[in-house]
Amino acid sequence: MNAAIAKLARGLGDVVFPPECVHCHGLIPDDGAYRHLCAACARQLDFVQAPHCTTCGHPYYGEMAGERMCPHCEGLVPEFGEGRTAVLFKGPARSLVIELKYHRGLYALADMEAIFRRSPHLLEFARGSVLVPVPLHPRKLRERGYNQSALLAERLARAAGGGTRVESLLRRVLDTQTQTAFDRRTRQANLKNAFALARGAGLNPALHYILVDDVFTTGSTLNSCARSLRGAGCLNLDVVTFGHG
Ligand SMILES: [Zn+2]
Ligand SMILES: [Zn+2]
Repeated sequence: MNAAIAKLARGLGDVVFPPECVHCHGLIPDDGAYRHLCAACARQLDFVQAPHCTTCGHPYYGEMAGERMCPHCEGLVPEFGEGRTAVLFKGPARSLVIELKYHRGLYALADMEAIFRRSPHLLEFARGSVLVPVPLHPRKLRERGYNQSALLAERLARAAGGGTRVESLLRRVLDTQTQTAFDRRTRQANLKNAFALARGAGLNPALHYILVDDVFTTGSTLNSCARSLRGAGCLNLDVVTFGHG
């Protein structure tokens, strides 16, 4: 089957064609736990469980209890309180993110929400908060047609319930993609000022805000967003990502 037609079929529903696994491309019987991951791939999902780093959410594996340095966020001076992530960004979780971000695979959101729903620690953490998606630059938004972090935040809000809501409080003022000519250090410095409060946005310092992004990589983008929110008077600020990689 032509890839474009397969994608269209997945998007339209599964009446005509049985859905295909986004990771291994095998067919999925309709009684599976996920709509776009087969049972074998679903078993490869690496759900984060305690103990994990409280800054970036990466799990600690068989390491000593007590004061620990997390190799996944060392060097980051967080402008936010704590961070949580649902799964490790690899294998099938990575395939879902790639479908969503680069192949217009909005249908992947259903399984990403299902993954949130199977992450009780994350739902509890987010419940009742105001979720703030990491914004895309307007140029990028026009190109992609949607902000995947905003769509993920909506799914997370729905899964967490308890008055959790999404507010797009930030805007990206610097197009970081046009920054590739600069070296890493300059890019990092520029990223510090890449975000600003959205026009007309207001914060209530009594509320719990959580920045939402698809993947935690170095944390520098989230940190830059956090700096903007802090500057606008946000006191209680954490971060959540779908994956960590
Ligand atoms: Zn599969
Ligand atoms: Zn960490």
